[in-house]
Amino acid sequence: MASTDQLFQFDGQLYEQCEGVAMGSLLGPLLANVFMCHLEERLSDDVLIPSYYKRYVDDTLAIMPGLDAAESFLNVLNGLHPSIHFTMELSNNDSIPFIGTLITKNGNKLETQVYRKSTNTGLLLHFQSHTDLRYKKCLIKTMVHRAKELSSTHQAFVDECRHLKSMFHRLGYPSSLVNCIIDKCDYSSTPDTKTKSDETLRVSIPFKDQVSANIAKRQMRDLSSKIGIDVQPVYTSKKIEQDLKLKEIKPCIVSQHSVVYCFKCDLCDSNYVGYTTRHLFQRIADHRYSAIGRHLRDAHGNIDLLNESQFRMLKKCGTKWDCLVYEMLYIRTTRPNLNTQSDSIRAKLFILIVKCFTKSLLI
Ligand SMILES: [Zn+2]
Repeated sequence: MASTDQLFQFDGQLYEQCEGVAMGSLLGPLLANVFMCHLEERLSDDVLIPSYYKRYVDDTLAIMPGLDAAESFLNVLNGLHPSIHFTMELSNNDSIPFIGTLITKNGNKLETQVYRKSTNTGLLLHFQSHTDLRYKKCLIKTMVHRAKELSSTHQAFVDECRHLKSMFHRLGYPSSLVNCIIDKCDYSSTPDTKTKSDETLRVSIPFKDQVSANIAKRQMRDLSSKIGIDVQPVYTSKKIEQDLKLKEIKPCIVSQHSVVYCFKCDLCDSNYVGYTTRHLFQRIADHRYSAIGRHLRDAHGNIDLLNESQFRMLKKCGTKWDCLVYEMLYIRTTRPNLNTQSDSIRAKLFILIVKCFTKSLLI
């Protein structure tokens, strides 16, 4: 098990951690989540989960009818597993912090604003630090964005912006830069000034590149403000599955060139995948002497059974490289029985090389 009896070294000494993953291990958050989900399943099976219950990794927010109910729920939680211990924090003056947000009860409404721990020193990237300007600009944008998202009222947003201005001022940022970014932030879309219309119109458009995506987003925002309905773009990307889907048969496929094609025997289920950069009819003629011809002769006793209707184009390609890639992908996914074993091995190898290649590009 990855979560028991882990060894670690500290200060030259070797230690054994009986339970839990090593601190900083990538498995940590994942396993914590799995573990918590498991506990929650048990709770919900016994109908013990409070009606309002939200969790982020190991931080939970719940609304309880009273202190007694809260304490008994805490006892239930602490009884779930011997090595896990939960603590509880109650609201103070009708306010409670939860992962960076301060939630305040105002009458029968809950309001939110940015929460800063008392130990927060406001120490962020200094303007004089040797870092590209765009990172500094992005830092301001991030903080303003956070203020906007976490503020449920316009006043909370204005207060947070005031705080950000003084914080960035202390970090040496020019006021003009900070003000400019805050001014660009869309005040009008803070929750309490938002148009009351809940209607959001989502328009799905194919993703081309980031530049056009930004333009589309800007145009839709303009449109939204004009018509009073929130219009948002949803970008769709082409999936490999769509590329690999068998395409409709087009007429005269035999006169196509640079294609990946498949052969399907009329008399049995045998099939074959290949590619050609020449015209397909030329390649079909060659197949009298290939595995296909051999199959028709050996299994059905007649090489003249070979005809063009048994061939289908799987993919029209632009280059020989595309032909090669798609042929390999089709061989790997459809595993045609007339392709030789070396074709499949070649396909496997090829996929491996492509994977390594794309990985090295990503690194
Ligand atoms: Zn056959």
